[in-house]
Amino acid sequence: MKEKLQQLPAVNDILQEDLVKEWEDLYDYDVIKKAIQLAINNTRKNLLKGKDVPVESAAIIEQASANLASIYQSSLRPTINGTGTVLHTNLGRSLLADHAVDEMIKVANQYSNLEYSLSQGERGSRYEHIRDIVIELTGAEDALMVNNNAAAVLLMLTALTKGREVLISRGELVEIGGAFRIPDVIASCGAYLHEVGATNKTHLRDYEAGINEDTAALLRVHTSNYRLVGFTDSVSDEDFVRLAHANNLPAFNDLGSGLLLDLQEFGLPYEPTVKEMIAAGYDLVTFSGDKLLGGTQAGIIAGKKKYIDILKKHPLLRALRSDKVTIAALEGTLRLYLNRSDALRSIPTLRMICTPIEELKKRAEHFVDQLHQATDRYQAKVAPGHSQIGGGSFPGVQIPSQLVCLTAKDLSGTQLERRLRLHAHHIIARLHDGVVAFDVRTLTEDDIETIVETLVDL
Ligand SMILES: *Cc1c(COP(=O)(O)O)cnc(C)c1O
Repeated sequence: MKEKLQQLPAVNDILQEDLVKEWEDLYDYDVIKKAIQLAINNTRKNLLKGKDVPVESAAIIEQASANLASIYQSSLRPTINGTGTVLHTNLGRSLLADHAVDEMIKVANQYSNLEYSLSQGERGSRYEHIRDIVIELTGAEDALMVNNNAAAVLLMLTALTKGREVLISRGELVEIGGAFRIPDVIASCGAYLHEVGATNKTHLRDYEAGINEDTAALLRVHTSNYRLVGFTDSVSDEDFVRLAHANNLPAFNDLGSGLLLDLQEFGLPYEPTVKEMIAAGYDLVTFSGDKLLGGTQAGIIAGKKKYIDILKKHPLLRALRSDKVTIAALEGTLRLYLNRSDALRSIPTLRMICTPIEELKKRAEHFVDQLHQATDRYQAKVAPGHSQIGGGSFPGVQIPSQLVCLTAKDLSGTQLERRLRLHAHHIIARLHDGVVAFDVRTLTEDDIETIVETLVDL
């Protein structure tokens, strides 16, 4: 081992190698040096641990090359989603419609009227851009956009309930993805949680009994990521709002998913739309831009002008405001909703949710044919399965889908799943009882072509 340690080349020796000299056309000299140093240090460490690793220049150069690639490669990378979960939180939730992407690019590389009134030639507001379209689509009096729905709830409660009580049903004290728990959010806004009713049943009289001189608002949180079944009861939206207003209190609804179109004709269960909640009389409704709405990460607050005006003046708004690129993407997505069939066709989240099963079957069969034509290393077959919508929406709903189940002649399912995931295309598949499966709901024709090419090379 001592001998090997002595054989380790010096950084300067490696820098003299022809191959390494070529790197200077592509990479910064200091970064190249660092990558080589790292490779040498790593090899030395392994030798000291007693591992028999190669010490020749070629081996060091190979390691340095891998180090360089990882230094220059983005950490955030595209993946192919073969899981069938449409709003996959870990894989970036909604995909944007082409129109929204075009709008984003325009404001990203050109100056824009972000905070400039073109008609007046003076300072304008960034919040104006989505206002009219949200009003048009939801029937609200006014609207405001912030960084995400968690921020929308934070702003609403801080500005309007701080130091006072927020009345909420015990059945709605939900946790949404780790750190966002309604009781903690209310506390962090400086408000006091006043729980009423029981987990499975809350009656109007429970809310009525909870109202006192410290009450600031009645809050409803849509239990978008779980479902109570069995002996349950809750108050209708109309009764809830009527009670709040009879006591001169505002009624708020954290709706979460931000569904703008009813999707029952596609076999999905009833979910309240934003428009319905505004019509029910809620003073403010908050929802996400990148769940069922299918836009970018954002939080939208729609409702009465009287309350939105207070939010607009709150200092917290500055900390929660959206970037121009995000505003462009959300506005671009919202404009597609002016025509229902445009929205269903061009917003990827809606398109994927509503794809007919016959089309999925054709897509899956095409996948299998392509693969068998390209190679005989795999056995692929189409099987029925289920997709989830994900993103904490439509809890427990399983939509029938079509899977392509894959076995390799020379790899186990676990090995195959791992190789696909680590491959440059980062293909994420499901693994069921050791078998790799793709749910074709979240795959495009291009994705399938890429997967087949990757499987041939693997
Ligand atoms: C998802 C969700 C949130 C959080 O929204 P983000 O946009 O992820 O910040 C808050 N409330 C409800 C009810 C939700 O479903």
